[in-house]
Parts: sequence; C-alpha cells; structure tokens
Amino acid sequence: MNVVENLKTIKSLLPQHVKLVAVSKTKPVEVIKQVYDAGHKIFGENKVQELVSKYGQLPKDIEWHMIGHLQTNKVKYIVPFINLIHSVDSLKLLNEINKRAQKINRKINVLIQLHIAHEQTKFGMSYQETEELFNSGQLKNFPFVNVTGLMGMATNTDDMEQVRAEFRGLKEFFDMVKNKYFAEKQDFKELSMGMSHDFHIAIQEGSTIVRIGSKIFGPRQYA
Ligand SMILES: *Cc1c(COP(=O)(O)O)cnc(C)c1O
Repeated sequence: MNVVENLKTIKSLLPQHVKLVAVSKTKPVEVIKQVYDAGHKIFGENKVQELVSKYGQLPKDIEWHMIGHLQTNKVKYIVPFINLIHSVDSLKLLNEINKRAQKINRKINVLIQLHIAHEQTKFGMSYQETEELFNSGQLKNFPFVNVTGLMGMATNTDDMEQVRAEFRGLKEFFDMVKNKYFAEKQDFKELSMGMSHDFHIAIQEGSTIVRIGSKIFGPRQYA
C-alpha cells in the first residue's frame, strides 16, 4: 500500500475547485507524515482524543477537520486548533462551540450536518430542522461560529442511483438555503459530500469537499 501513490491518483481525479480531506482515522502518525511530506496538508479525524493526540505530534501547518459526531463536553479540546467542524448537528453544539470559541477569541468554521441517508445509524439534522434553524435567526447569537456550508453522508449501499438522489437532494437544499438565508454571505459556499466509494458521484452532484480515507490509506482495522 503506497499512500503517496494513492494520494496522487485521487488528486488527479478531483477537479480544481474540490478540496480533499484525507481521512486519517485509525492510521498512525508515521503514515500521515508520509502523506504530509508529499505535500498534502488537510486531514480529517472522527474522534476527539485521537485528533488532539495527532495534532500534538504532527506539524503545525496541518489543517485539521473534525468529521465525526462531536459531543458537547469535548468541544473545548479542539476549539483552539480546529480548521473546520463538518459535523454540527444541534443548537446545543452550536452554543457550546460559540462559548468555547469566545473564551479564546477564535472564530470557528463549521458545516451543518444533514441526515440524508435512509439509515438509522447516521447523525445529522433533518432538512426541516435545518431550515427552522436558519429561519429562526438564531445563528446571530453565535458570533464566534462561522457557518460555511453543509455536510451529508449518503446511504451505505451499492445502489448508486440512490446515492446520487441523496446527494442531489442535499445540493438542491444547499442552493435553496444559500439563496434564502446566505445570499450576502460570500463564504457560505461549502458542500462536504463524498467518500472513497461515492466521491465521483458526489462531485458530479456539486460537492466542494470530499472526505477520503480508505482509497488513500487502505482499509481500516478496528480492534
Ligand atoms: C471514515 C469517514 C470518511 C472516509 O471514509 P472512506 O470510506 O474510508 O473514504 C468520510 N466521512 C466520514 C464522516 C467518516 O467518518
């Protein structure tokens, strides 16, 4: 498994405007360093403890993204250095991120995670809850949180037409809310969708950020 070759292959498949988050969860820092040394600086993790540990061990110009479910009691550990939180799925979490960010006077970029899959297991808010949040004007209460877009995970299925329909629905929702609530906000522009098995489709459907793990680092082994 040559991670640098894999990285190059993936990069060659991505249009210029699509950002690549290399999902390094479960992978050791030595392997992440190889990808870093090949020139890639954006990595994603899904567990706070692992993220903080890797942040401490790796070069400080890495852009770290939190892509997994985030508990409010762990927000404080990542707020000092996180570049983008993809997985904001409640008002409570927005409130906590704002509070912790204010304490250190740092504005935190976040995406709202939508539940678009036909599965019980995926986190995220519904379209209705998300629109209610934007419509309520409550984001104004969180001046230290910068909402730069939306994130979604499609159903884990071989039915690529279903995956496509889910991504397409999220893109339509993104365009609608952008027009309705963020028309003046230039930096509301990110749509994080697409993983190793479905990123081609996600890009066709308007993704601006793909989160790719196993196609770069190989399969993950969970203990
Ligand atoms: C693990 C993970 C990915 C990457 O998955 P791969 O299939 O290995 O590319 C992307 N997004 C989230 C939220 C993840 O947890």
